[in-house]
Amino acid sequence: MELFKVEGWNLNTDKVAFKDSKKKEAQKERNRQEKLDRKQRNNKASKETKNEDSKQEEVEEEEEDTQDLEVSDVEDDGKKVNESKKPKAKPQKVIKPQTKPTSKQLTPLQQKMMAKLSGSRFRWINEQLYTISSEEALDLIKEQPGLFDEYHEGFRSQVQSWPENPVDTFVDEIKFRSKKVINAPGGLPGLYPNKEIVIADMGCGEAQLGLDVTQFFNKFNKRAKGRRKISFKINSFDLKQVNNRITVADIRHVPMKDESATIVIFCLALMGTNFLDFIKESYRILAPRGELWISEIKSRFADGRGDEFVETLKLLGFFHKKTDDSNKMFTRFEFFKPPEDIIQERRAKLERRNKFIEVETEKEQLEVKRKKVAEGKWLLKPCIYKRR
Ligand code: SAH
Repeated sequence: MELFKVEGWNLNTDKVAFKDSKKKEAQKERNRQEKLDRKQRNNKASKETKNEDSKQEEVEEEEEDTQDLEVSDVEDDGKKVNESKKPKAKPQKVIKPQTKPTSKQLTPLQQKMMAKLSGSRFRWINEQLYTISSEEALDLIKEQPGLFDEYHEGFRSQVQSWPENPVDTFVDEIKFRSKKVINAPGGLPGLYPNKEIVIADMGCGEAQLGLDVTQFFNKFNKRAKGRRKISFKINSFDLKQVNNRITVADIRHVPMKDESATIVIFCLALMGTNFLDFIKESYRILAPRGELWISEIKSRFADGRGDEFVETLKLLGFFHKKTDDSNKMFTRFEFFKPPEDIIQERRAKLERRNKFIEVETEKEQLEVKRKKVAEGKWLLKPCIYKRR
């Protein structure tokens, strides 16, 4: 299996969270939890304190639990597709949510063990979200909302270890482009008549982007004086409403009208195996000339730069503006939805060159391929966090 190297991460480990290691992983989890429970019971029963050496031994038994990123081994031949559809894969049966003791009740050693356990659970939930369909993900989080919180606890600590948070890059882009007039070259796209900037943050997590951008525009408008104020709206969608900025939705279908958004953002959110449905949904809700911004983990692209990804989005109707792969960990893409006159022009050009049928055939082939093997298995690889 080929590993995708990312600077700063240790990928040369033999402890890799492969898909087929799920059972072992779950068993390990249970063993750990049992061990922890036993220890807590023992602690209650006897006030005897262990000497430092024996405690140390236990710590060393546990593996280091800092997380790295890597892509999992993905089946390209479609053999595993049916397997992913089987309900037996319902992950919530594998690990039952436990009542977590508060850190006040735990000794430092137990706290360390808890942290390791949380790390494992985070990796497990993460792997689920990348290897199930978006419908299954919504069901999973509805049934066990606690999993979302655990996931984001782990995700937050992961983000802290990154040199750059891609959410901040998008916020900076908005700040930078707001210096130019809305709808002018280089300016942000706005909806007529009042040039309202309508952002849809798809798979927003805790909606940090919504918070930061709202604060920025509010400040901008306060200082506007003679300048025109910016009218804006931010819709943040995710599987759980952890704060009131968020609307619960599977981003395959969001509660927004056709052509009602001017910027759609996917920041590390192309998680479900059917993520091209999310892209199609963004095409539906975007107004003509509206922009699609995507940031994804670099190592998810089998071809490195994401050219196949770009070509696929072009087949779905988007025009490619740019790919920024200057960051070591993330690749950022900008697309836009062409207005009707450009679509017609493009069509006429293709017809003149007898290429129209060719493109239509490619579109059909893409759908046939997706039906056989979900795009989450070939176009973007799942992003698996593993132990170091
Ligand atoms: N965009 C945020 C969060 C990234 S984590 C950030 O960059 O900080 C990916 C998020 O996508 C998770 O919160 C996950 O719950 C969400 N997600 C994955 N599949 C989804 C779906 N089908 N519908 C809605 N949200 C989804």
